Amino acid sequence: MTRIAIIGSGPTGIYALKGLIRSKAPLAITVYEESPDAGKGTPYHPAVNDRAMLANIASIEIPIIVETLVGWLSARSFDELQAMGIEHGAIGDREFYPRVVLGDYLAAQFWSLVALGMAAGHSIDVCASHKVTDIRLGEDDITLAVQSGDGSSSDVVFDHVVMATGHDWPANTETSPGYFVSPWPASAIRQIGPVSVAVLGTSLSGIDAVVSIAGAHGIFLRDEEGMLGYQAAKSSDGLKMTMMSRKGLLPEADFYCPIPYEPLTLCTQDAMARAIAEGPAGLLDKIFELFRIELAAADPDYAGHIGLAFATVEDFSGRYFRDREEAPPFAWAARNLAEAKLNKAGRMTVQWRYAILRMHEVIAAAIPHLNTEDLDRFHRHFKTVFVDDYATVPHESIERLLALHRAKRLKVLGLGEDYGIEKNDAEPGVTVKLGDRTFRFAAFVDATGQHPLSASDLPFPSLRQQKVVKEAKTRAGELEGSFKRTGGVDVDDDFRPIITTNACRNLYCVSVPFLLHKLPFVQGITSAHQLGIKVAKAILEAAGPKEPNAGAELLSLR
Ligand SMILES: Cc1cc2nc3c(=O)[nH]c(=O)nc-3n(C[C@H](O)[C@H](O)[C@H](O)COP(=O)(O)OP(=O)(O)OC[C@H]3O[C@@H](n4cnc5c(N)ncnc54)[C@H](O)[C@@H]3O)c2cc1C
Repeated sequence: MTRIAIIGSGPTGIYALKGLIRSKAPLAITVYEESPDAGKGTPYHPAVNDRAMLANIASIEIPIIVETLVGWLSARSFDELQAMGIEHGAIGDREFYPRVVLGDYLAAQFWSLVALGMAAGHSIDVCASHKVTDIRLGEDDITLAVQSGDGSSSDVVFDHVVMATGHDWPANTETSPGYFVSPWPASAIRQIGPVSVAVLGTSLSGIDAVVSIAGAHGIFLRDEEGMLGYQAAKSSDGLKMTMMSRKGLLPEADFYCPIPYEPLTLCTQDAMARAIAEGPAGLLDKIFELFRIELAAADPDYAGHIGLAFATVEDFSGRYFRDREEAPPFAWAARNLAEAKLNKAGRMTVQWRYAILRMHEVIAAAIPHLNTEDLDRFHRHFKTVFVDDYATVPHESIERLLALHRAKRLKVLGLGEDYGIEKNDAEPGVTVKLGDRTFRFAAFVDATGQHPLSASDLPFPSLRQQKVVKEAKTRAGELEGSFKRTGGVDVDDDFRPIITTNACRNLYCVSVPFLLHKLPFVQGITSAHQLGIKVAKAILEAAGPKEPNAGAELLSLR
């Protein structure tokens, strides 16, 4: 039997498993999971999250595993739902739930897949509390060094290895007194006292941070009219939080739109493929032109309002954010939330938002083809628009920010481009310098999210020493064949690191931080689905049809 290892049982590993068990030939699959409970993934694990942290993906958007999230929730008992803090009547396919609830759902789906796979004749070994510490590429196979929870180590040999190791969490969160390099695990930042706290980042991770800290010092409560308020404990009167980012903007509220997505008319996959086929010269401007005409056709009023006809790659984000930058952030957030709620109730779609949301998926396919200059322009000027548009947050998250602001516990500070954040060894926390203004905070949390990693950051020493896995190449200049290594990991279309020696090529790198350089939107459960299914297909093609596996025919997985 073909021996396959999946390292990591988060969403990407789960979708890879789903793809693999469709195999007609029986497979020997081993899933290694560092944490004691397999199938939850890092952002959805109770060891990392506060119960209050909400997922920003609704059931309707999650590619089906075995059941939908809504189907799984509806089948839970009254007691189970109560333990999750969910009312039966509030289950809906566009609702948002705590991330730990998603973790329970994902784990249940994972174990259902394991049962289905075994019933179909595969051998599936789930090794929880097993950390893969090294990957060694042989000529024909791959050896994994595995450390189990009891401290023992072993070497195990496989034909194919899927690296679905996901997010990269720092081992130590509070690296110096009052200085937290990540908002996770939530249990660490909940220890912050009732002091002045700076949170760097105003997106979902920043919201996670302020909601966790606020939860440790008080409660969120709804009044009779349904308005959410926040009350700090008497002993926590000193709690004052400031969220900081360059623009000082808060994220927008989740907006209603038709799902599955309606087709685009001008910025289509075919149009993008034609632009890519013409070569890298001027590609970003061609992409921008497709983006511009689609947006203008989708929402002419919006196009006129922002002067889209005159927009360029360099100045589009300025036009996109201008109204928001001119408004006080909490006033804007309250207005935007009211509009989003109204649109959700009336099933109304804001066309410009929907067009940008759909276009980010089409444009993503062209990013790996940009030359060095255009890739830099894209990251510097254009990417932010798409991230802002798709990383909208649950309405309740905005309500919490507004409640904290009304309770005088939360402010937002725009840092601009010229600022400094300094640690002072004598005192906990940081000093923030903004021109001639200075702000002192007794605690600091970096909530800027997952940063891209490169080949030299791979957590497997032999892979680094063998130097066979390289940084991704980007076309430099017009000359055919002139490339520069610019970051991430160099992978082919099936996410196999491009290896030029005679080492085994059956390693698949679908670990998000190593892909972000060339695939900046590859975040979220929908991406985990695309990655997992893609590598499973590649493995099944490479493994080739062997003896038929009658059991696989019985699988009714969609
Ligand atoms: C805080 C946060 C919140 C997010 N919220 C959302 C959201 O609400 N909606 C959404 O769509 N996306 C969200 N995302 C995006 C997220 O990338 C994906 O949803 C998803 O978790 C990616 O799945 P994954 O399996 O690739 O990685 P992960 O979920 O990180 O899973 C990787 C797994 O691999 C295991 N592992 C790692 N290294 C090893 C090793 N050496 N040996 C054995 N096991 C190992 C880990 O323990 C983990 O279980 C969020 C991301 C973050 C960081």
